[in-house]
Amino acid sequence: MSADQKDPRLAMLVESIVRLSRGELSSRIEPSTARDEVDAVITGVNLLAEELEQVYEQFEKRVESRTAMLRQAHLDMMKMAMSDALTGLANRVALMDAIEEALNQAANGALPPALLLLDLDSFKNVNDRFGHDAGDRVLQEVALRLNSVVRESDVVARLGGDEFAILLPAATMDIAMQVARRALEVLGQQVRLDSLYVHSRASIGVRLGTAEQTPEELLLDADTAMYAAKREGRSIIKVFEPVMLYSRQLRSQMATELRGAISADELVLHYQPVVELATNRILGVEVLVRWQHPLRGLIPPDTFIPLAEEIGVIHDLDRWVMSASLRQLARWRRDLDLDADFQLRVNLSAVELKQLDLVDHVRTLLRELELPAQNLVVEITETAIVTRGEVEMYSLLSLQQLGVGIEIDDFGTGYSSISYLRELPVSMVKVDRSLLVELDTRAGQLEFVAAILQLIRAAGLEAVFEGIETREQADQLRAMGCASGQGYYFSRPLPAEEAGALLASTRHLRVEEGIDDPEVAPLR
Ligand code: C2E
Ligand code: MG
Ligand code: MG
Repeated sequence: MSADQKDPRLAMLVESIVRLSRGELSSRIEPSTARDEVDAVITGVNLLAEELEQVYEQFEKRVESRTAMLRQAHLDMMKMAMSDALTGLANRVALMDAIEEALNQAANGALPPALLLLDLDSFKNVNDRFGHDAGDRVLQEVALRLNSVVRESDVVARLGGDEFAILLPAATMDIAMQVARRALEVLGQQVRLDSLYVHSRASIGVRLGTAEQTPEELLLDADTAMYAAKREGRSIIKVFEPVMLYSRQLRSQMATELRGAISADELVLHYQPVVELATNRILGVEVLVRWQHPLRGLIPPDTFIPLAEEIGVIHDLDRWVMSASLRQLARWRRDLDLDADFQLRVNLSAVELKQLDLVDHVRTLLRELELPAQNLVVEITETAIVTRGEVEMYSLLSLQQLGVGIEIDDFGTGYSSISYLRELPVSMVKVDRSLLVELDTRAGQLEFVAAILQLIRAAGLEAVFEGIETREQADQLRAMGCASGQGYYFSRPLPAEEAGALLASTRHLRVEEGIDDPEVAPLR
């Protein structure tokens, strides 16, 4: 080949290098038979291309496997973000997605979704009494049971705490009610925790959605129905009705107002005498709070104390009652020459007993007002101390050490166990008024009350009966040897001024005729 004639293999080489640089790594150049320097370069380029191709393949494989790992991690994260770690059920986010999807389907002509919201009735008790591990196991069991009453296409979710939801993506009210009833049934069976059996009953709210709703509206409606179920009683199913929204609004308005009630000075205290049955001597008074609402008038505590507990206002409320009533007691002691053993009885909620500084608060007030601790009795409901939490026991023991009397209120309505009463630092038991209601009319009730009285005495405690409304009841209790009591028969709870006037005028209540109409003043 002459020098001015170009070797065609050079052109092929250039072309091949261009292809390689374009990424066509499989491109090769056929060496010639000349086996000269150019062929050596061609072979070198081919080897490099081979090497490049292999490295690239390995690289691709690595990228592929890393991408798969990333994809899996993403899926896992999605799953974690969409499910509840404890039960493996869908979580709120996943539920809302599913509701949205079902509502979209309904907008395109499918049946509307039904949403069931479930709240366990006494889950807090399980946690308090048996610990959080036990609580977790109950929640897991509930998840299993709820899964057993639905189909694959339905969504069971845990919304947090002891609140669950079931979404039936395309449903009718009939189907929704069937599922709700089955859920109630499976949850009605006790859950076994080692040697213990506990209940996992629930209240259920049901709402059949409409295509026009947003997922949030559907959830709120179902929640409102569940709320109504809870308020009406335990273990029931309630179907959403628009009027429920109204009462809920009213309640939330009341909650807002209640938050301001203390500072607006709208709480008032009434005082109901507790008397010695043998002599009608006034032993003391129970403080009962009322809410003087600017528009709604005088609201009884049964209406707002549970609300106060729910919204966390009870702490301030109880502290206010304690301090205002002790101040009242100090004024009476100064002005009225009360008996030395006169007792002011103040109701304390379960929440208050859990406050570490409760004892300090009481001690400081007593010191400031120069009141003997013996003049104060705190009334605590059975349910508040049945769990015997450490702080509760600390509060009770410290109050007792201070000299404050401790009384179990509403005895006979809850866990009533004399053996546990014996172990608690309490000195008195107030028997709930429901035990007296049928005293005159129901055969056997008298014996029952007598037996309760004996049990309380056997535990070394004193019994006080509340809700005495008739002369017969007072006579019967006196005949049984019951020492003290309170009720409309002796006196209704009175505003401070009237209570003061009563205490100023007499030490002994003169009761003539018993009353059945509580609006009629029984005092002469
Ligand atoms: P409780 O401590 O068991 O109070 C006794 C309730 O029975 C009072 O209702 C009282 O007015 C009522 N009562 C008294 N005699 C009779 C009677 O002869 N017949 C009938 N049918 N009822 C009678 P009230 O004042 O409505 O209080 C209800 C509950 O509210 C109280 O029950 C107590 O648990 C709670 N409460 C009241 N004041 C306070 C407070 O300051 N703090 C807390 N935490 N709870 C309070
Ligand atoms: Mg009470
Ligand atoms: Mg009571």
